[in-house]
Amino acid sequence: MNEQPAPTMLARAQHSISRKRISPGALRVMYTLHEAGFQAHLVGGAVRDLLLGGEPKDFDIATDARPEQIRQLFRNCRLIGRRFVIAHVRMGGEILEVTTFRGTGAGADPDDEVDREVDSSEGLILRDNVFGTMEEDALRRDFTVNALYYAVADFAVRDYATGLEDLEHRQLRLIGDPETRFREDPVRMLRAARLGAKLGFSIAGSTERPIGRLAPLLDAIPPARLLDEFQKLFLYGAGEKSYEELVRLRLFEHLFPSIGIDMDSGRPYADRLIRAALASTDARVAAGKSVTPAFLIAAFLWEPYQHMVAHLPEEREEAFGDAAEEVFREAGERVALPRRFSQVAREIWELQPRFLTNSPGRARRLLRHPRFRAAYDFLELRAVIDPVLAPVAERWERAQTVAPEDIDSLFRQVVAPRHDPAGSASEGDSAPAKRRRRRRRRKPDGAPAPVPAE
Ligand code: ATP
Ligand code: MG
Repeated sequence: MNEQPAPTMLARAQHSISRKRISPGALRVMYTLHEAGFQAHLVGGAVRDLLLGGEPKDFDIATDARPEQIRQLFRNCRLIGRRFVIAHVRMGGEILEVTTFRGTGAGADPDDEVDREVDSSEGLILRDNVFGTMEEDALRRDFTVNALYYAVADFAVRDYATGLEDLEHRQLRLIGDPETRFREDPVRMLRAARLGAKLGFSIAGSTERPIGRLAPLLDAIPPARLLDEFQKLFLYGAGEKSYEELVRLRLFEHLFPSIGIDMDSGRPYADRLIRAALASTDARVAAGKSVTPAFLIAAFLWEPYQHMVAHLPEEREEAFGDAAEEVFREAGERVALPRRFSQVAREIWELQPRFLTNSPGRARRLLRHPRFRAAYDFLELRAVIDPVLAPVAERWERAQTVAPEDIDSLFRQVVAPRHDPAGSASEGDSAPAKRRRRRRRRKPDGAPAPVPAE
């Protein structure tokens, strides 16, 4: 069983990976495994990113030790996952993922329970805990550049696919037959978009070609897993580019079918709002500020929400809440939307009409609202896209800096959003003042109906 192709090797002197750039926890875990007689390799994104001179997001470790053996070596170790059993080892403040080499099952140790489940109609791998050699493990990974191993035994980098070459050409290439590999796990299509965006890599033609046809396979992925991917796609600094890749590859419409971003028919308002939200999230990540999925969810689903609101039979408060819940329910069938996120998104939405107030008392109350900041940031996004809201956003910007006694004069002047008399300049949010009459004339597609002002 051990007749394996020799890997391409880069010895210690031939590559740029320095141990100083590997986290202390990862080094400790690898040395402990090594000293206990097991193999220990840094693998995946960490090796890729270190070779590119970047800062790895996390350090994953691969070993020939079985999960139970890993558990016995580390005091702070938990085995998690069913689809893939992974050991989480806590070391100082870090959590390291340690995985046992996955195998193909062919020629596996007969004492090993073969724990793999495949959906035969789609080729989807439901569970995969067949263990194997390092070489087999490499070939089961997704992209060649993600199948590079760095060992503490000799500090060499090993490559069983064409990872080093593809890294040089800045290219993502699936290992093996692309269609088979996408069918095994359709999330790899999202990973292609995400890693391409994050690394600035292109996707190899043979890898990209089947995506258009296989994109609908994403519909079978559990919503909780898509939420994980959603966060990795949009909250780590390359959100806007990831979004562009998803749209280009026609994957986005499978994550959020209700938004209806469709490059052919075009829904420019939603597209612009989503981009603006992602650009602002990326800037926050770059500045080391906190980011929340709730804000993005508010931006992503604003247009479907406005659409729903426009078709409400009556404008009762509860009806708006129901509309929000219906939008979350529908979107949640694809990407799970936990309450803790959707609740905040809903509050952001519900505060929007309150920004239109001309009452100093109400303005003061709104300034004290616990969700004021997020709601104001959202108003700013809308104002960037929809100039009629600019004076409103400007007033609230000033409201946050003026002395409390100046709030009165600031809000007594009537600053209603300016309506474009021709009704055409703004295709997004139109403003609420003359809501009832304007609603009928709203274009059916782009322009969200206003939410009621106080
Ligand atoms: P990031 O920089 O975002 O962490 P990554 O490539 O390290 O990127 P992870 O999700 O941390 O992504 O996965 C670690 C490694 O596990 C990958 O590099 C790849 O080798 C392997 N892997 C992850 N997801 C899959 C998958 N769906 N199919 C095959 N291999 C995968
Ligand atoms: Mg990683």
